[in-house]
Amino acid sequence: MLAHTIEEVREKRREWKGLKVGLVPTMGALHEGHLSLIKKAKETCDKVVVSVFVNPIQFGPSEDYDKYPRTLDKDYELCSKEGVDLVFAPSPSEMYGDGGKLSNDTLTYVCPPFFYVNKLCGKTRVGHFDGVCTVVLKLFNIVQPDYGFFGQKDAQQVVIIKKMVKDLNVPIEIVQCPIVREESGLALSSRNKYLSQEGKKDALVLSSILNNIKLCYQKGITDIEALKETAYSFLTDKHEMEYLEILDRNTLEEKSKADNDSIALIACRVEGVRLIDNTYLGER
Ligand code: AMP
Repeated sequence: MLAHTIEEVREKRREWKGLKVGLVPTMGALHEGHLSLIKKAKETCDKVVVSVFVNPIQFGPSEDYDKYPRTLDKDYELCSKEGVDLVFAPSPSEMYGDGGKLSNDTLTYVCPPFFYVNKLCGKTRVGHFDGVCTVVLKLFNIVQPDYGFFGQKDAQQVVIIKKMVKDLNVPIEIVQCPIVREESGLALSSRNKYLSQEGKKDALVLSSILNNIKLCYQKGITDIEALKETAYSFLTDKHEMEYLEILDRNTLEEKSKADNDSIALIACRVEGVRLIDNTYLGER
């Protein structure tokens, strides 16, 4: 079933009283990465809701909100094939009122702590995680799921959502799912659609850098600067590196040395498209 209004979702939720409900929040343009979350949700829950909403308040003024791919008919078809019970695809005005006109002065926001947002993607995407937490908490309140499913692909996002759930006593269990990649190693992303064939090859630099860092760590190098320096040999003028960090995977804290709880995270532009990826150093 496809629902566009909050009331339709609430009605379904009342029907599902006593059942275990899972929510997979997405911005649509669904690919195998999203489907892996849906599959996990199907395994875990009696009923699965997928939200498809390109959330205006998590995009900066110079970001790709207008051109972000919107493929609701195809998304709905994919969800139906996976046995999703409800696809919730609201309009911006259904979510935010005011005819979708948004203003920081009139909307109640959820603002995650500075420590978590003042790094990685939050450094350049100012306000992004306020927008993410606000929409995710709204979706949690609308759907009232028992479980929320998120991808490790957006590692900073999952850490921040878990923190929000803990700090605000939201009675929902967050399930994190591994990154799904193309055979080439490229992490699946809706933004890969913006890349040319050539760009997709150049984009392999992200996973190559991360794999090499992991390899070096597993061979015994724990000095973080030394690990980060191994990236330079992969970069060409096709790559515009935004960040490469090695942090604690649970807290996003800096460490003096890399260890089995470390995560390496990268953001890099290829053909002007901002791509992110990460890997756990302790994982084989
Ligand atoms: P998005 O539609 O990009 O907002 O992503 C919706 C959810 O799918 C988020 O929890 C993402 O982390 C997750 N996701 C996106 N790409 C992948 C991937 N390649 N593997 C696993 N999960 C992913």
